[in-house]
Amino acid sequence: MSTLHEDMEHFGSFLRMAIHFLHDRSNLKRMKVKEKKALVSMTYPFSEIVFAAGAIPVVPIRMHEFPNSQYLSAISSAGNLFGWNNTAKLVGIIRQFGAGRNLIKNIFHDVVSSLFAKYNEMVAIADAAGFAPDGCYGLRGLYGMFATKGKNLSLNLNFLYRCSAYVKFCEILNDFVPRSHYIDWPIFPPGQPSEANIQYMMQEIESTIAVLEDVTGNSVTEASLRDAARVSNECRQAYKEILLNIGKQDFWPCTPSTFSEVLTLLNVAFIDCCSNQTRFRDDLNAMVKEMRSNIEHGIGTDVSHYKKVVMQPIFGGYEPEVQEMVTELRGRVYYGEWYSFGFLNDISLDGNMVRNYAEHYLHISGCTGCSSVQMQDSFLDLVRAVDAEAVIYSMPFGCRDMTSCFRYYREKLTRELEIPVALVSFTRMGEGLEQVKTRVQALMEML
Ligand code: SF4
Repeated sequence: MSTLHEDMEHFGSFLRMAIHFLHDRSNLKRMKVKEKKALVSMTYPFSEIVFAAGAIPVVPIRMHEFPNSQYLSAISSAGNLFGWNNTAKLVGIIRQFGAGRNLIKNIFHDVVSSLFAKYNEMVAIADAAGFAPDGCYGLRGLYGMFATKGKNLSLNLNFLYRCSAYVKFCEILNDFVPRSHYIDWPIFPPGQPSEANIQYMMQEIESTIAVLEDVTGNSVTEASLRDAARVSNECRQAYKEILLNIGKQDFWPCTPSTFSEVLTLLNVAFIDCCSNQTRFRDDLNAMVKEMRSNIEHGIGTDVSHYKKVVMQPIFGGYEPEVQEMVTELRGRVYYGEWYSFGFLNDISLDGNMVRNYAEHYLHISGCTGCSSVQMQDSFLDLVRAVDAEAVIYSMPFGCRDMTSCFRYYREKLTRELEIPVALVSFTRMGEGLEQVKTRVQALMEML
């Protein structure tokens, strides 16, 4: 059985991606100030159209400094100096910092928990401003991010997802950013989008391209759209390789706890590709390579006796401690929201690229659905894809849309797939853990 300490010795690629996610503030500043690049905010993973325009997509939380920046900075320098594969050197550098061995033992958890602590900080900013006290955690977190960093953006670009609370939030957002552009996102009944839907989506993309060209001064061409789609497809392939192919195996290249931290990091990093598409593609490929090598050399954990547990939805916020509770009870936790919503489907590279982008975005619209029922069906796709044996369904306080038909979801899950589900409510990280623990224990006892 691999230990957290051993994971550190054999998992330089996790550190590499974590640093590019958490420790990019000065790079973003440089790109904005010195290179005069346009920073464009994202809420969902639609980064390819921003990259195609030569702009820099960014989730504003990454413009903040994280509490562990001191040792992240040291690791970053060491990684660049010695190479990210030289984990022995990296470990040596880390040993000089903070809690020494304890830090090394816990670094995976520390990296991810520092991200969650920052989310809590963003929510506290929203609460102090009196923003939507009855709103979901996710929107309050976004409020905090934009209130603190929105002024540094050139453009806030977003798709108008059908949740009314989200649409209302977008109106408030305009006060925090110099410029906003919202892409109207057609919804349609279950099945394929009509030609009229496709034509409408293409017009929306054309007008988005015009805004991006105005903000950046660059021209968006068929070639730039194709190049950005090609690299984003490569990212998708690597992501699916980790989530589905490696994730479904009975031998994992690390501890179950670390693997879930990897999926957490992928979930957040995929939204803006850490603001550098080719670097992110390379980070993902390095991770796949390292995982394959670990498996080949027997480095990792036999997880054949660990029950597969999907935790979803996580978009509106979720309790990260659940994963530790499940792992202690011999379960392995999967997060895969972007798979459920169709974001990991490839963009076609043949023919008219505006049409290809339109079809891709409409496919995602079909997954999120024109009703909450369709959305629950998409969540079930992930459950099937990883052959899950149980589900923990996270219900964010204040959500009136995404999680409003849990009964339908539970019926489908328990009757059709014959899989048990535990409902855990979520208000803020670290709150109500005792009750959550009781539900998780009851679920795991059923398996
Ligand atoms: S669907 Fe629910 S969790 Fe998502 S933004 Fe709307 S209210 Fe928040």
